[in-house]
Amino acid sequence: MESSASDEGESANPSFRYRFALFCLLFFVTCTRPGYQQGKTAIAAGDSLKYFGKALPSKPLAKKVIKKKKKIYLTFDDGPNKGTQNVLDIVQQENVPATFFIVGQHVFASREQASTWDSLQHAINIEVCNHSYTHAHNHYEKFYQQPDSVVSDMEKTKDELLPDNNIVRAPGRNSWRIDSLHYTDIKKSKAAMDSLQSAGFIVMGWDLEWHYDPKTLVVNNTADELLNQVDSVFIKGKTKTPDHLVLLAHDQVYQNAEDSIQLRQFVQKLKMKDDYELSLVSSYPGIKKDSLFSSVKYIP
Ligand SMILES: [Zn+2]
Repeated sequence: MESSASDEGESANPSFRYRFALFCLLFFVTCTRPGYQQGKTAIAAGDSLKYFGKALPSKPLAKKVIKKKKKIYLTFDDGPNKGTQNVLDIVQQENVPATFFIVGQHVFASREQASTWDSLQHAINIEVCNHSYTHAHNHYEKFYQQPDSVVSDMEKTKDELLPDNNIVRAPGRNSWRIDSLHYTDIKKSKAAMDSLQSAGFIVMGWDLEWHYDPKTLVVNNTADELLNQVDSVFIKGKTKTPDHLVLLAHDQVYQNAEDSIQLRQFVQKLKMKDDYELSLVSSYPGIKKDSLFSSVKYIP
């Protein structure tokens, strides 16, 4: 008997429909099983699991890498002088920690400087450290020939103004005596630096200086240029302690409005950098907490 195409279709369709319906049913049941949904969740979460009796490969969780910030210590030397109050105002308004290395006799040099000293003592989130009493009268070579006199000069500022503070910076010298960190820039002053350490002082130098013209008191580099220098010193690994940079600036430069703007911009740009964190010098590696001082007011 001759069958038409439609007849063939008629006879095949019920079986096809039945198989298709069965397939859909099985698919639906499978996909809505709690285990299946759980399996999908577990895979997404990276957990190892067994699904339909087979072990699925374990996918490790991506570890969140917490990047350690590089520390920058802003330090300002030679105050109190005509620029110190401006520096203090800027760091306080920008809410950043800063350390002032003061020269003892400058506190008594004028009524204005005595008032600035008072402001420094009452400010928060700053530290005031010792930069000698006489600043070697700016005759460094002669000064460092007498180690005992160098120690006495530091002790005078300590006794009169900073009784609880042992962190000092040597005038005119970039030398370090912090725990095992020993560095002497000019060898003729080595005996004096060793004497300071023996007397219980911690001597802090610097890694980078914001230079200025001593005649005009104008900074040699803009905030952007200095920031590039900071980046470069870190990249080249030229700090005394890896990932810790001590920056030296001088208060007197910032009595000038234009230089004060540069300082403020520098601080603002540093704050925007995620890689960097500003700190007080007392948190520098190797400085023990018992070198800390009742005179320091710090809000963490
Ligand atoms: Zn100085």
